[in-house]
Amino acid sequence: MSNKRDYYEILGVSRGSDEDEIKKAYRKLALKYHPDKNPGDKEAEERFKEAAEAYEVLRDREKRKIYDLYGHDGLRGTGFTGFGGFEDIFSAFGDIFEDFFGFGGRRSRRTRTRRGNDLRYDLELTLEEAYRGKEEEIVFEKWESCDICGGTGMTPGSEPGVCPNCHGRGESVHSQGFFQIRTTCSTCNGAGQVIVDPCRRCEGRGRIKVDRRVLVKIPAGVDTGTQLRMRGEGESGENGGPPGDLFVVIYVKGHGFFVRDGHDLKCQVTVSFVQAALGDEVSIPVLDSSGERRITIPEGTQPGEIIRLKGKGMPSLRRGREYGDLFVQVIVKIPTRLNQRQRELLMQFSELEKQKIGTKTRDFWDKIRKM
Ligand SMILES: [Zn+2]
Ligand SMILES: [Zn+2]
Repeated sequence: MSNKRDYYEILGVSRGSDEDEIKKAYRKLALKYHPDKNPGDKEAEERFKEAAEAYEVLRDREKRKIYDLYGHDGLRGTGFTGFGGFEDIFSAFGDIFEDFFGFGGRRSRRTRTRRGNDLRYDLELTLEEAYRGKEEEIVFEKWESCDICGGTGMTPGSEPGVCPNCHGRGESVHSQGFFQIRTTCSTCNGAGQVIVDPCRRCEGRGRIKVDRRVLVKIPAGVDTGTQLRMRGEGESGENGGPPGDLFVVIYVKGHGFFVRDGHDLKCQVTVSFVQAALGDEVSIPVLDSSGERRITIPEGTQPGEIIRLKGKGMPSLRRGREYGDLFVQVIVKIPTRLNQRQRELLMQFSELEKQKIGTKTRDFWDKIRKM
């Protein structure tokens, strides 16, 4: 039973085609569905793999003969499994891709190397720490290639054995009535080989979990969502592939006094109505090491008025360190309880206000009369 398409059909060639025609047909398809030209396109990826598999069979006289006589099942009997992924294809056809495209050599490799996984580490900071920047040693677990077996999972010097379950074929065959059902061997995952003498250090996994310590330099001005990329600090690659990267993702906690808005900071300061009227100096906390700063409330400040302190906000991550601004909103508190003396004074104040307004009103009517 097979749901695979016919290889000749895939390449669009007749059964009698010669090597040259087959190569040409494959070249056309490979160029069309090349992953570099169709990034992220699953359909193209399938077509590309399908074409590679068809070409792999039809260019090979032996395999083609078996395929012509017995079809897909015949090939499976020889242990042919097609390609697992792009790396397989590029390593099988490396030279061909080079003369096809002129850039295939970049991807062609003799052995299957794989870049290690990227890792993510979430780091929480206070607003003060984000303001000043800091160095922090972070500790995390990661998989590294086993240093004893070099990632093979086998005790050094030992040889792999033939898989006892599939006898090296990489798949299991079960009969069910007329049908034969083939599945990838679960013992060897299709490799056909098993480790006989597993490495004691990694227990045959080829990789070990290690605690890794990295000193992260957090620049002043980071914000929630800032990602610091530590090249090569991710998991190690396979078969000599490069390691992945570590991404330290910053989360800046909320602050009791300041609200951050990009590079600017906002805060509120409460003063009495007398302070607002007469003007005053008040202290507010600051993020740098000085602890607090005195700011001037100008005479006649209105409720809700905003005082802008240029350059007193958060530092910018950009080079040449610029700072945002600090916006201080003045909240004016009106007293809710007055003692006798305060009340008297305010009444007197009110009388003075009335006279002032009265004078203005008189002036106004005088002007009208004159007109
Ligand atoms: Zn090992
Ligand atoms: Zn097996």
